[in-house]
Amino acid sequence: MDLAADLYPIPRSLTGDGVRATLERIASRISLDVHELPTGTPVLDWTVPREWNPREAWIRDPSGRRVVDFADHNLHLVGYSVPVHSRLSLNELRPHLHSLPEQPDLIPYRTSYYEETWGFCLPHRLLESLPAGEYEVFIDASLEDGSMTWGECLLPGATTEEVVISSHVCHPQLANDNLSGIAVATHLAQTLAAVPERRYSYRFLFAPGGIGAIAWLARNRERLDTFRHGLIAANLGDGGSFHYKKSRRGDAEIDRAVAAGLAGLGEEPVTEDFFPFGYDERQYCSPGFNLPVGVLTRTPWGRYPEYHTSADDLSFIRSDALAGSLAAYLVTAAVLEEGAVRSAGTAAGTARRRPSTAGRAGDDRRYRSLEPFGEPQLGRRGLYGGLGGAGRKAFEVALLWVLNQSDGEHSLSDIAERSGLPPSVVREAADALREAGLLEDTP
Ligand code: ZN
Repeated sequence: MDLAADLYPIPRSLTGDGVRATLERIASRISLDVHELPTGTPVLDWTVPREWNPREAWIRDPSGRRVVDFADHNLHLVGYSVPVHSRLSLNELRPHLHSLPEQPDLIPYRTSYYEETWGFCLPHRLLESLPAGEYEVFIDASLEDGSMTWGECLLPGATTEEVVISSHVCHPQLANDNLSGIAVATHLAQTLAAVPERRYSYRFLFAPGGIGAIAWLARNRERLDTFRHGLIAANLGDGGSFHYKKSRRGDAEIDRAVAAGLAGLGEEPVTEDFFPFGYDERQYCSPGFNLPVGVLTRTPWGRYPEYHTSADDLSFIRSDALAGSLAAYLVTAAVLEEGAVRSAGTAAGTARRRPSTAGRAGDDRRYRSLEPFGEPQLGRRGLYGGLGGAGRKAFEVALLWVLNQSDGEHSLSDIAERSGLPPSVVREAADALREAGLLEDTP
């Protein structure tokens, strides 16, 4: 809780001094190598973005009163907003204001990493109360060439085989969806560092979501053969019970280790099969890498009303929940160390079952992704909406499903069945991806 409270006010984003300040505080507790990758560096299908550093941002109403101020809450400013200073009418201002009509007292979390714009987030009740007239908006932020920052803590073991624990460090002022994962991962590293003998090496990644994992994968591509097991740590401080999202393989040792470990604690997690969106499992479990990475959380992202709002504050996370989450990660590590679930199943991950198509008059077309390493950048190809933080449309979800499953094995019918999406939407997504040059036909 102390660490979370310490990190809470820092204005984090994908890049910038907020990430550096966060890593500095983590580094006061565990040994951390901090990496900086310059803007413009190509990483898989992406490039490292420009660095963003917000300083001041506010809106003055017609009477001159500051009605929205970044200094009051980091969520007030849309992440990656470009600088602006202008006077405009409420009507002109409205498209730049984001609120949650269903949760009128909360500030939403919004970002615009890949589309140049600016905006403010505010409680809907406040938005509705704004009088007509002339407003003054001011955003002092730099968006320029710099670098992207991430941290790694490596605890060497008897072997170079690695267990990788990954948490994102890009969310501003959100406790459960971000700080809980960072806090549990940091304490896990501290605890494991004190264990005299470890079979595995443990690597803790504190990287911005999406592009951070993509950069790490790009920079470590040659040594992924030592990557044995991975977990994504997030949403670990709410009062909910444990939830485990399996790796894309579905039968990896980590998938069994989490279940066995939690059973030892008398906990039975809700388990869910892999799906190709969420946190950085979407990169680690892209078809080219297909690494054994699962997601161990309490209540998953998007399934609690406080998610991505100002209500995900320090009062929403609890020390007993964080401690229980730490125990869950420790017991999973213990199961892996013992190799207790290693022999179950056969050659986890290598034996692929070709989905049965018997009795289905579906769409048998199978494709192969031409960008199978990490997620291809869809926004650049005009296939994906710009503003992040809110939900995704079915078509965008279908794009991710088709890309993730297009390894030549799964037909469009298989994908529709597994994703639960309408076959027509899956087909539409596949056509769009083929047109964008991201899929090739397989015989
Ligand atoms: Zn999030």
